Amino acid sequence: MNKDFASSSIDTRCVQAGWQPADGEPRQLPVWQSTTWKYATSADMGALFDLARAGYFYTRLQNPTCDSVAAKITALEGGAAGMLTSSGQAANFFAVFNIASAGDHVISSAAIYGGTSNLFTVTMKKMGVDFTLLPPDATDDELDRAFRPNTKAVFGETLSNPGMEVLDLSRGAARAHAHGVPFIVDNTFATPVNCRPFEWGVDIVTHSTTKYMDGHAAQVGGAIVDSANFDWMAHAEKFPGLTTPDESYHGIVYAERFGKAAYITKCVAQLMRDLGSAPAPMNAFVLNLGLESLHLRMRRHCENARKVAAWLAGRDEVAWVNYPDLPGNKYHALAQKYMPQGTCGVIAFGLKGDRDRAIRFMDALQFVAIETHVADARTCVLHPASHTHRQLSDAQLAEAGIPKELIRLSVGIEDAGDILRDLEQALAK
Ligand SMILES: *Cc1c(COP(=O)(O)O)cnc(C)c1O
Repeated sequence: MNKDFASSSIDTRCVQAGWQPADGEPRQLPVWQSTTWKYATSADMGALFDLARAGYFYTRLQNPTCDSVAAKITALEGGAAGMLTSSGQAANFFAVFNIASAGDHVISSAAIYGGTSNLFTVTMKKMGVDFTLLPPDATDDELDRAFRPNTKAVFGETLSNPGMEVLDLSRGAARAHAHGVPFIVDNTFATPVNCRPFEWGVDIVTHSTTKYMDGHAAQVGGAIVDSANFDWMAHAEKFPGLTTPDESYHGIVYAERFGKAAYITKCVAQLMRDLGSAPAPMNAFVLNLGLESLHLRMRRHCENARKVAAWLAGRDEVAWVNYPDLPGNKYHALAQKYMPQGTCGVIAFGLKGDRDRAIRFMDALQFVAIETHVADARTCVLHPASHTHRQLSDAQLAEAGIPKELIRLSVGIEDAGDILRDLEQALAK
């Protein structure tokens, strides 16, 4: 009796998709706060370990609360299969490592979250995966030249954190597919309410659910959704992990056995099994409450941010404002194409004067708070050069599209007039 919400609007999917109670079951998603499940016979449990039958046995692998929320996010993205992870970092690591291991190469946009950039160029490099970082507006030629015989994926962010560059999704998908590899996109900032990358040819989407999806700064989490549009078997020699027998599961070939769920099943069965990073059921429950109002909050975030961006652009103290919804912005045309209803609540801007001016302005704010966070119901600010990206050199900052004076303002869902008044009194000081 599971209703298929594929034809419902995104608003209805936010509220209704995922948990589908049967008669007499709880209306609200239950929290299965249990590590384990009981079975009557040894054979029943054995079949689960062989992946011969689907079922729950241990929360590191699967948990019904987490699976219900993964199903909602999968429905929001219009995907075929999805999973939750304990953080956005784990989601991006798993999404890439599921198809690229030691000796492989991945092309990534350089305009990505600082944590992801560290993961790729420091930690995964130590694991033997090589990354080429290119600016998000690299030409087709530059992109084509970056491919190597061992390239396994192309990666980028729909809207980059914190630079707010807009990725040309169709163009990235066309280049990746011309070279026989999938396009993986982190859709954290846009959320599926404002952009559904699968509609533009993207194959796999990741999220830090810590941000707008949760929206209340209440849990750290991540998600991976697969469109199942990429044909692993057509490029079997590139993706042996999906197309040749897995000896740790009695010779199962994921792409043959699991069809549209192949990529996600492999990711759970191998990476979640061996590396952990499983979400807590209680956190999945909290995330689900956030998802139920995601559509309403995104509308208000965008409405408020448009007002704030236009106001900042008119101020003498402000050197520049980067908000793709503003006409005249370098990414305005791409934003209109991929996110016609609005991008998100994050604005990047710079004040005239030295680096200290940014710090003095931020220290003078009243309810707008300095936080290592973004995409929250409460308006907050951060200075990436002094906070999230402080380990990057000036050259690396420039490569990631982050000027030293950049202030990341995450506009919340308070009254826009109150937000403007707080910014104004801080600018005046
Ligand atoms: C925050 C963020 C991440 C990392 O997510 P965590 O949940 O903090 O681990 C990844 N990508 C983007 C775009 C982010 O904003």
